[in-house]
Amino acid sequence: MVSTVIPVRPFDLVIFGATGDLARRKILPGLYRRLAAGQMPTTARVIGAARSRMSQAEFREAARAALEEFVDAPALDAAQVDTFLATLDYVPVDATGEDGWAELAAKLGERPDHIRAFYMSVGPNLFGVIAERLAGCGLATPPSRIVVEKPLGHDLASARALNLELSKHFEEHQIYRIDHYLGKETVQNLMAIRFANAFFEPLWNSRHVEHVQITVAETVGVAGRGAYYDSAGAMRDMVQNHMMQLLCLTAMEPPARFEPDAVHDEKLKVIRALDPLTLADTVRGQYRGNNEDGSYHDHVDDPASRTESFVALRAHIANWRWAGTPFYLRTGKRLSARLSEIVVTFRQPPHTIFPQIEALKGNALIIRLQPGEGITMRVTIKEPGPGGMRLVEVPLDMTFADALAEVGDIPEAYERLILDVIRGDQTLFMRGDEVEAAWAWTDPIIRLWTESGSKPLLYDPGSAGPIEVYKLTSADGHLWREIAA
Ligand code: NAD
Repeated sequence: MVSTVIPVRPFDLVIFGATGDLARRKILPGLYRRLAAGQMPTTARVIGAARSRMSQAEFREAARAALEEFVDAPALDAAQVDTFLATLDYVPVDATGEDGWAELAAKLGERPDHIRAFYMSVGPNLFGVIAERLAGCGLATPPSRIVVEKPLGHDLASARALNLELSKHFEEHQIYRIDHYLGKETVQNLMAIRFANAFFEPLWNSRHVEHVQITVAETVGVAGRGAYYDSAGAMRDMVQNHMMQLLCLTAMEPPARFEPDAVHDEKLKVIRALDPLTLADTVRGQYRGNNEDGSYHDHVDDPASRTESFVALRAHIANWRWAGTPFYLRTGKRLSARLSEIVVTFRQPPHTIFPQIEALKGNALIIRLQPGEGITMRVTIKEPGPGGMRLVEVPLDMTFADALAEVGDIPEAYERLILDVIRGDQTLFMRGDEVEAAWAWTDPIIRLWTESGSKPLLYDPGSAGPIEVYKLTSADGHLWREIAA
């Protein structure tokens, strides 16, 4: 099997915040890999724009250092690195002042017919400001796109305000809201598995699916980014965006076409069908400290903080397909393993001819985002050998790294998404109304917690969260899957 690389048309990409962490770790390395793969044309221009005063040569050297740090050594080819660095330019721009805008406009004006993309790799307080300046300088031409990333608001009101600000200067089809989970190979494969195979879709409903679990677990704590995290918490940082997107792709109806609006419409319907939660549907927690590391309170330097570093939810989608199938979501810091997965557990066969089957867990489809992207089907078979009919559960494994080894490097989420921006394909991005609908569901939960006056429950580092989390699933007769890599 050979991976098909379709080069994109030459483009001008301006990275606001090009000296920052996201640009160094993800955007520049991702672009390099696409150039090395033959997808990014060597005539494309990547223009760094940030507050730091530096020359084009200095920016290129900074980019070289970023590639050396964040691209795997075997993928670094000296000649290709030089070719990539030759596409880079730099303009010192102050988003809130006058500096640099005329120079940026002059540079872009050299190629007025090219696709322009403006990547906002800066704090969200600057998204609206930069959009306005771009329009004021005449840079927001019809083929221009802007790229923004979470946090897209802090609640429904601020998300609405941000959408409004951006929409003053850019049409919805020009706004690319990145959720990098949607750029993951496995997440897209979830759609392929569901809609390109005949045998899953007839089973994909509450008659056959007992429950669904979506887990995003991290082993790290919040040390180093405590101030940001404490103002957000697991609900805003993970559930409202990444986990909601995973839920949508798992639960949505088949779109009529694989086109952006058709996909966005179906995702939106899922979010709007989510029942409001009660306190009994939620468990939130904060990690304790241990001998090696401090507690959540130590890391955010606030002994009174009630922000959650863990949350588990029992959600219900009130529609014909899913009524009666709980969707359990859980995410947290300092848990037992780093793991992101979706597990769809099927009901037991309606009639049992093997008594032992009662003791087995049943069929499940396990969609693993990390580590080791892949999809596994848990099936029940006969244990090999003589001695009667003993049943055993085995995985049918579709680990992409093995199955698709000849395809070569699977692109990282960011590189795929940036090139989708250039291609003008919004399928794997979030539409403004989706973001607002997701806030409209999560806001009342956060309000419930605040109004209840309760504190998050404490949990041990290296555990699966507060012990109370088991009650969420056991109340329905289900078990959480172990959090193990
Ligand atoms: P950072 O603080 O490392 O970098 C910020 C960049 O913005 C710097 O290049 C700085 O020069 C530039 N900048 C700041 N004020 C400016 C101004 N007035 N005019 C022009 N440039 C200005 O931040 P980061 O970690 O790279 O994150 C950037 C954005 O991406 C944030 O919104 C963040 O929430 C989001 N994000 C980051 C990551 C990540 O992995 N770092 C992941 C997801 C989302």
